[in-house]
This record gives sequence, C-alpha cells and structure tokens, in this order.
Amino acid sequence: MKFDEVYPDATPGVPPAPNVVPVLREEQVRPCSVCGEPTRWFHRAFILHVCSEECVQQLLECN
Ligand SMILES: [Zn+2]
Repeated sequence: MKFDEVYPDATPGVPPAPNVVPVLREEQVRPCSVCGEPTRWFHRAFILHVCSEECVQQLLECN
C-alpha cells in the first residue's frame, strides 16, 4: 500500500508511525528506488526513496 494512502495526513519530516516502518515524508518528489513511481517518501535507514510498504519489502529482500 502506498505511503500516501497509509499516511495521508503525514507532516513532512515527522515520522508518521514510529516503530513501524522508518519512513519520512519530504516536500520534494523523487522516483521510488524500487518501482520508479514518483514519491515524497524515503526510508530513513537506507536513505532511499520508497513509495509503498511493498517497495520497502522488496528493498529488504534485495539487501
Ligand atoms: Zn515504489
């Protein structure tokens, strides 16, 4: 599920759900590093843009 759908009210720079997935929203849109879709979300540990929970899962399996 896209982070924009999971956390529609997220404030940029503020973790929307601590202790779940370490992602943060920022203002700038960049391509997801897994699927290439534009996203404002990035993974705080990998410092890579990821658009959804599924893409984070793929990232974890590939590392
Ligand atoms: Zn993605």
